[in-house]
Amino acid sequence: MFGPGDDCAQLRPWLGRPLYQTVDQVVEGVHVEWGARPAAMARKLVGRTLSDLAAAGAMPWALSWTICAPPASHRRAWLRTLAEAFLEAAERENASVIGGDISSAPEGAPVVLSCTALGVADQAAPGRSGACTGDLILVTGKLGGALRSGRHLAPQPRIAEGRRLISRYKPHAMMDLSDGLASDLPRLLRASGVGARVALDCLPLAVGLQKNLRGFESAVADGEDYELLLAMAPRTAQRAMRDPLLRRAGLVSIGVVEEQVGLRWTCDGKLLRSWRPKPWAHDFGEEEDA
Ligand SMILES: [Mg+2]
Repeated sequence: MFGPGDDCAQLRPWLGRPLYQTVDQVVEGVHVEWGARPAAMARKLVGRTLSDLAAAGAMPWALSWTICAPPASHRRAWLRTLAEAFLEAAERENASVIGGDISSAPEGAPVVLSCTALGVADQAAPGRSGACTGDLILVTGKLGGALRSGRHLAPQPRIAEGRRLISRYKPHAMMDLSDGLASDLPRLLRASGVGARVALDCLPLAVGLQKNLRGFESAVADGEDYELLLAMAPRTAQRAMRDPLLRRAGLVSIGVVEEQVGLRWTCDGKLLRSWRPKPWAHDFGEEEDA
């Protein structure tokens, strides 16, 4: 059983299957640009909420959500577009929308959306605390540049991949990447009481990023990737990387879990002692005149 601090809370098994719950938000000016289109906000809300269920290997079951919007956004057409996009995104992931609430906010306040999701899994998720020395560290998909490319507006939660990983390959620890590898991997390592070495030249870089320190920094620090990050025994990891579904999702090994705590970056086999990637500033608060 686990609760706050993990991707999802695991509830008492329901009809013998573990039930997972998670909640997430999209705030205008924080997670999306001011004046972002309602459909984009709704898609992002569903995607980032369900990404937490993916990390637990859970199948989306039911969603409820809330909207808090100032009068300027509270117009009928705006709300209709938002709701339609939310329902569409939920339907695509086979989740039923079971409720919600709307509130108005003072003029000038940001739009704040929240979504609570319930998911059912076939078996219990590993959580973040089971990574062992010698495990390989793996990720799905491509990393970096999600904000600049606009990819962050339509995250594709790795539901099928999360379920496949847990049912067939039993990762020792798994979470989703929302804040970037440089922020999220240390969380997994701390929870497991271990450290790791990550090879920057093995990172799956998003299109447009170069294989240099700037590209690597973008890949580990931009965030909003909504991919899966996991630790697995080396032999199992080799098998998982040959699984057709996981191969299509780009599952690759990027590093190894070590006994010595802390996260170390290497490039061409050399340890980069002073390299400290800086998190990408979500500069949505500033109006850009250009
Ligand atoms: Mg998460």
